Amino acid sequence: MNKPESYVVPFSEGSADQKYLLGGKGANLAEMTRIGLPVPPGFIVTTEACRRYMAEGGSPEGLFEEVEAALTDLEEQVGRRLGDPESPLLLSVRSGAVFSMPGMMDTVLNLGAMPSTADGLAALGDEWFAQDATRRFLEMFGRVVLGVDSELIERNIDEANAAAGVETERDLTTEQLAEVVAAHRRTIADAGFELPEDPRDQLRLAIEAVFRSWNGDRARAYRRIEDIPDDLGTAVNVQMMVFGNLGDRSATGVAFTRDPATGEKVPYGDFLIGAQGEDVVAGTRRVEPLSHLETEFPALHKELLGHLDTLEAHYHDMCDIEFTIEEDKLWMLQTRVGKRSATAALRMAVEMVDEGLIDEDEAVTRIRPRQLEALLHPRFAADAPPPLTTGLAASPGAAVGKVVLSSKEAKERGLAGESVILVRPETSPEDLEGMVASAGMLTARGGLVSHAAVVARGLGKPAVCGAHELRIDGEAGTVTVGDVVIRANDIISIDGTTGQVALGEVELEIPDDDPNVDRLLSWADSRRTLHIFANADTPDDARRALAAGAEGIGLCRTEHQFLGDRLPLIQQVILSNSEDEEREALVALERSQKEDFEQLFEVMDGLRVVIRLLDPPLHEFLPDVESLHIKKALGTLTDEERRLMEVAEQLQEHDPMLGVRGIRLGILRPEVYRSQVRAIIEAAVIRVEAGGDPKPEIMLPLVGTSQELEWGVNLIHTTARAVLDKAGVEVDYTTATMIETPRAALRAKMLAPQVDAFSFGTNDLTQLTFGLSRDDVEATYIPRGLELKLLPVDPFRTLDPDGVGRLVEMAVKEGREAKPDLVTGICGEHGGDADSIHFCHRVGMNHVSCSASRLEVARLAAAHAAMEVTGPGSTA
Ligand code: ADP
Ligand code: MG
Ligand code: MG
Repeated sequence: MNKPESYVVPFSEGSADQKYLLGGKGANLAEMTRIGLPVPPGFIVTTEACRRYMAEGGSPEGLFEEVEAALTDLEEQVGRRLGDPESPLLLSVRSGAVFSMPGMMDTVLNLGAMPSTADGLAALGDEWFAQDATRRFLEMFGRVVLGVDSELIERNIDEANAAAGVETERDLTTEQLAEVVAAHRRTIADAGFELPEDPRDQLRLAIEAVFRSWNGDRARAYRRIEDIPDDLGTAVNVQMMVFGNLGDRSATGVAFTRDPATGEKVPYGDFLIGAQGEDVVAGTRRVEPLSHLETEFPALHKELLGHLDTLEAHYHDMCDIEFTIEEDKLWMLQTRVGKRSATAALRMAVEMVDEGLIDEDEAVTRIRPRQLEALLHPRFAADAPPPLTTGLAASPGAAVGKVVLSSKEAKERGLAGESVILVRPETSPEDLEGMVASAGMLTARGGLVSHAAVVARGLGKPAVCGAHELRIDGEAGTVTVGDVVIRANDIISIDGTTGQVALGEVELEIPDDDPNVDRLLSWADSRRTLHIFANADTPDDARRALAAGAEGIGLCRTEHQFLGDRLPLIQQVILSNSEDEEREALVALERSQKEDFEQLFEVMDGLRVVIRLLDPPLHEFLPDVESLHIKKALGTLTDEERRLMEVAEQLQEHDPMLGVRGIRLGILRPEVYRSQVRAIIEAAVIRVEAGGDPKPEIMLPLVGTSQELEWGVNLIHTTARAVLDKAGVEVDYTTATMIETPRAALRAKMLAPQVDAFSFGTNDLTQLTFGLSRDDVEATYIPRGLELKLLPVDPFRTLDPDGVGRLVEMAVKEGREAKPDLVTGICGEHGGDADSIHFCHRVGMNHVSCSASRLEVARLAAAHAAMEVTGPGSTA
C-alpha cells in the first residue's frame, strides 16, 4: 500500500464531500467550519489510518508524528496546551464513521483532565468543574480505552451518591467529586490497568481505541442490520473541548432543523443547563425543550436558529446538530442529515419539493420502502380503551405483544416468531438485536433522541419512549404503573404514533390516506418502468388493490373460490366415481365461480387479470383424516364422513408439496380445469356483452415439461373456443405458465412459444431450488442459517439472486429469445420485497405482482430500481 498524502486533516482543510476519507462527522465538522459556523477547532485522523491499523494490526508509520504536528497547531491556535498545568487544553476524541452509527462507537471526552491540570482547569471554571471533568475523563478513558468493567466505575459513583445522599453526581461537592476521582484511579489500578499520566500517550491510546471500536460487537451488529460494509473503517475526530458544564450560563443540547417525528417545519430540540453532551443523549436527566432556550438565552437561541437555517439551505435537507454553550458562547459540535420518522421523512420530502429546496427525483430517492411501509402501519383503533399511560411518540406504528424485560429473551422469542414488546428503563446499543426481534419497544426514560427512539425509527418499528410512569423491576419481572402491575408475558399494546400504552390487546386500525403518500407515489409511478400488479383472489381484494394503484391482477388463486359454503361442492367433485358424476357435481361450482369472475372482471375492467387454475392437492379440501378417526372411535362418524374419510385416506400424500398439484392435478382431473376455463370465459363473455373490456389470462401452475404445458394450453384453447363459438363473441384472453419448478426454468425456450406470459412463482421455485420446505424451516433452520451466515439472505423474503435468481434470469432471457414479446412477471411473496423488485427490474421483467398491502412499497421500490438508487439501506 502506498502512503497517502496525509493521515491527518485539520477541520479547516476538509469538506463535506470527503465523507469516505474523513468520516461523516469529520466531513461535516469541516464543512461547518468552511461555511463559517462556530466549531471548536480540531483535526481528523482519516479512515485510511483506521484501515491501515486494521490491516497492519497497529498504527501506521508516521501517524503520530502527524497527530503531534496537528496538535501543536491546535495548541497555538487556541492558546492552551494539552497537559499544561496552568492553561490546559482538553480534547474530545470522537469516532466518526462514514455512515452515522448512533451510539455504536466510542468517544472519550475531557482528555487531558488530570490531577496535574486540576489547578489550570479550576482557573477556567472552578474547583468543582475541574474535578467533574477529571471524573468524566477517567470514566470514559477507563471504560473505552482501557476496558475497565463499567459496573466497577458506576459503583464508585453510586456509592458516592449514596454516601452524600444525592440523586446524581451533579449534586456532589468538589471534595466528594475528588474522592470519586481517587476511587476511579484505584479501580483502574486494581483492575490491573495502567493509566498513562502523559496526555499525549492518552491521546495515542484513545485514537487506537476508536480504531478498535470499529470492530466491536455493537458496531458489527449495527452494520449488519443497516447493510454497511465492514471494511470502511472509522475516522477519529480530535477536537478542543468546550464546556457546557461550566455553570448556569453553560448548557448543551441537540436540535433538529425540523421536527424529526412529525416533519413539521419547526426547529425541534432538547437541552440541559450545566451539562456535557453525553448527559442529553443518555436520557438519564430530564431535558428542557428548545423553546425554553429562548427564555434562558434569547440571543443564543436566535443565533442557533440562524445556524439551523444556514445548515438546511446548505445541505438541502433536515439536519440535526449537537451544540454546547460555554459561558454564553454558542458552539456547534456536530451536524448531519438527521434521522427521522417515516411520517416526517415523507412530509419533509414533499414539502421541500414545494419549497423548491429539492426536486421530485430527490424526494422519491429519499423515502425508503421500509419507511413507506411504516407509514402504512396500523394505529390504535379510534375506539380503543383509554391508555394505561402515555409516553413519547417515538416511532410510529402500533404493536401488540407479550411483555419481555430482557433483550436477550426478546431476541430469542422474537426470532422464534412470537410477538414480543421489549420493555426497558432505557436501551443501549447492547439491546439492538433484541429490538430488531421485537414487535415494538417501550422505555421508561429517554427523549425523542434517546437510543431507543433513534434505533426504532431506523428499524421502522413502533416505539414509545420516556413513559416515565413505568416502574420496571427486572428481578421481579414486573412493570408497575401506579397500582397496576403488569407481569412479564402479559399482553400489552403500544402506539408509537401517539405514545399510548394499553393493557391487553387493542384493536389496530390502518391510518387514513396521507395525501403526501399519493403525491410521492405519483412521482414514483412516473419514474418506474416495472408494472405493478396485485395478487388478489376476490372482488374485494381487487378493489383494495386498485385503490392502492395496482395495474392489473398478477395472481388470482382460484382455490379460494372452493372454500366456505362451496366446500361441499368441491367435496362432491372429489367423491364422484365417474367423469359424468364429476361433471354434474362441477356444474354448481362452475356457476358460482363464474359469478366471482364476472365481478372480478368488472372491477378490473380493461386490466389484465391472471387467473391460476386449481393448484393445491385435493385432500386440502377434505376434512383432516385424524379428526375423522377420532370421530370414528367415538362412534359419531356419519355415512357421508365415512366416505370422505376413505377418499381422504386414498388421497393422502407423503409429500403433498411434491405430489398431485398444479397441472398434474389438472391432468388427472381434466374436468376440473375445463370447468374453471369455462367459468372464466363465460364470465368474460357476459362482461363483453355488457360493454365491458375483460382481459383474462389463464395460467397453468407447476408445469415441468413442455408436453405438460402443451396439454394444458390445448385444454384452455379448446374449452374457450367452444364457449366463444357458442356465444358468438370474442374475448381478449391470453395464456400463461407459472415458472416454479427448476425444470420449467431450464426448459423456458420450449415453453415460451406456447404461451403469452411467464409468471415466476418464486415461493415454490425457491423451495425446489434449495430443497427447503418453507413451513418446516422458517422458524428453525432459516434464522440459524442467517445468524451463522450460512445463508446470505432469507431466500423466502428476498429472492436469492445467486441461485434461484440465475434460473429466473435465464428463463427470462431464453424465453424471450424463443418468443420476443413474451410477458414476464413475478407473483411470489418476493413481488413485494424491495430487494427482489430491484432484481426483477434488472433482469428486465415486465411486472411484479404482490399482495395489496405491499403495493405502495412495490411502486416506490420499482421507481428506485429504475433510478438506480443504491447505497446502504436503499432497498430495505
Ligand atoms: P455520538 O456519535 O455518539 O453522538 P459524539 O462523538 O458526538 O458521539 O460525542 C458524544 C458526546 O460528547 C456528544 O453529546 C457531544 O456533543 C459531546 N462532545 C463531543 N465533542 C465535544 C467537544 N469538543 N466539546 C464538548 N462536548 C463534546
Ligand atoms: Mg454525536
Ligand atoms: Mg406455486
